[in-house]
Amino acid sequence: MDCPVCKNPMITMELADVEIDYCTGCNGIWLDEGEMEILLGNGGKSKDFIRSFHKAPQTGEGQRKCPICDKNMEKIVASEIEAGPMLDRCVNGDGLWFDKGELHNIIEKASLDEGNKIKQLLADMFGQETEDR
Ligand SMILES: [Zn+2]
Ligand SMILES: [Zn+2]
Repeated sequence: MDCPVCKNPMITMELADVEIDYCTGCNGIWLDEGEMEILLGNGGKSKDFIRSFHKAPQTGEGQRKCPICDKNMEKIVASEIEAGPMLDRCVNGDGLWFDKGELHNIIEKASLDEGNKIKQLLADMFGQETEDR
């Protein structure tokens, strides 16, 4: 699968029970559909958080194409997080794209259930020192 930003082939990593695709060029992360849910777990806070995703208002950020179906992705934000990152989501539901630092940004700001696996995933990927934006 090629990175939607720099078009280089991404590497697949198996971490925290999900297979993620990672771009070593731009440090972006692709999660297939359903993997975000696995990472966040089944708790009520995490479910609310996922439900709060909605289409972002028009922005200047360029459109990206889904690495799976090659359609333009839509920009989404989580209404739960103020000034949170803008993510790219495949309109066909293939998955979610996180630019460098966006996944980290989300777990810092969102109220998620204890025991979600995102911290573990980031620690496995980047070591204890998860890098800042
Ligand atoms: Zn890239
Ligand atoms: Zn797609």
